[in-house]
Amino acid sequence: MTNFMATRPQSTTGRIETCLEENEIGMIQSIRGFRDILPGETERWRTIEKTASELLEFFGFREIRIPVLEKTELFCRSIGETTDIVEKEMYTFPDRKGDMLTLRPEATASVVRAYIQHQLFAATPVQKLYTIGPMFRRERPQKGRYRQFYQINAEVFGIASPLVDAQILFMLTSLLDRLGILDCTVHLNSLGCPACRAGFKDSLKTMLHDRLDRLCEDCRKRADRNPLRVLDCKVPGCREALQDSPSMIDHLCDDCREHFDAVRRHLEALSVPYTLDHRLVRGLDYYTRTTFEIQTAHLGAQSAVIGGGRYDGLVKALGGPEIPGIGFAIGLDRLVEIHALVQEVRQTHPRVFFCALGEDAQRMASEWICRLAVEGIEASMDYSGRSLKSQMKQADRSEAPMVVMLGDNELAEGQAVIRDMSDKTQRKVPMEGLLDLIRSAA
Ligand code: ATP
Ligand code: MG
Repeated sequence: MTNFMATRPQSTTGRIETCLEENEIGMIQSIRGFRDILPGETERWRTIEKTASELLEFFGFREIRIPVLEKTELFCRSIGETTDIVEKEMYTFPDRKGDMLTLRPEATASVVRAYIQHQLFAATPVQKLYTIGPMFRRERPQKGRYRQFYQINAEVFGIASPLVDAQILFMLTSLLDRLGILDCTVHLNSLGCPACRAGFKDSLKTMLHDRLDRLCEDCRKRADRNPLRVLDCKVPGCREALQDSPSMIDHLCDDCREHFDAVRRHLEALSVPYTLDHRLVRGLDYYTRTTFEIQTAHLGAQSAVIGGGRYDGLVKALGGPEIPGIGFAIGLDRLVEIHALVQEVRQTHPRVFFCALGEDAQRMASEWICRLAVEGIEASMDYSGRSLKSQMKQADRSEAPMVVMLGDNELAEGQAVIRDMSDKTQRKVPMEGLLDLIRSAA
């Protein structure tokens, strides 16, 4: 078991120590690798999340929401003790009672836990679940790599058929198509089952031992403990040393080979192009048989946008019945970055801006804003009571296509002046007709 206690922060009082210096008023910044996603960007995130969840639901997936904090043991048992995630990247800490907790580094383990805990398999083992949310890994932050990042995660339980492996890849490539992201490649491999993988591991180990001096320090350690991980190493020297590494596909047992061949046939029938990639082992230990990644040339070293695969033994390993599973995670941060290269997302603006001169006019403008908001029309106003010229500048900045001007004269006459911002024409309209006019313009 990894020694998490070694890094436990010590507190002499047992309480959380505050670190405020007296009279300190400096600005507090977010922590490294954790970022804010600001208005202007969130529209793109929502567009992508909506497109993805709609498509997932057309494919029969239903949303599940799971906690961000879980018992550490859940991740150690599922992801694997000797993976980078568990050994180096998890945010793990004791809570006030000393229970070891971890901010989830991925979602599959939690979804499997929920599937077992709530016996979602009782009526039918077949369940298709998806979830969207933040994950936490303490990696070196860089473009496309954050310590809090977001994933769309989906899992299919109870279907062993290779048809579903192909359906998932078809769905994912359709999603990228819908988002206008065309420059992506599906990488496909099979990791076999524990039985046939043993032979592959042995031949890989033999090769690693012959080339130990060419491997990075981490990989030298991994060579015995978890040789598959070496294939996943991103250090150029290691990649080079393993260029002619043995292929799992050559070691597949009859059943695993049949499954893999069927996935390939179904992909071809669905016209999903793919590349065989015998180095694709993925960074988590629970995968069996089909593994895949969708990569892009857009993001430099952070080329993987989507990763996933089968995990036929995971439900059982986490204390449930023997039920097969397959799933994937879409890296939303990276998807958003690529999407920004290929597509504009329209920013929303108020549809009407009120310039109000005088207290009564301001009150009336405020009432209009409330009335329009519940009608589903966003309106905005200037609250300052300053000159019409200054308020018009504000109206311009808001990018609202229509401006309504209200002053004492207009109120007395029961009228308002409407300015069409596209051609700068103005006209007076009676107040009673204003709502219909705004509605029809909106
Ligand atoms: P990588 O090889 O880039 O480290 P991974 O194999 O660790 O990715 P998975 O655990 O399979 O990634 O997660 C699926 C997807 O989540 C990745 O393809 C990627 O798009 C995204 N992802 C993973 N780690 C990060 C991170 N630290 N920051 C942003 N996105 C990430
Ligand atoms: Mg990683």
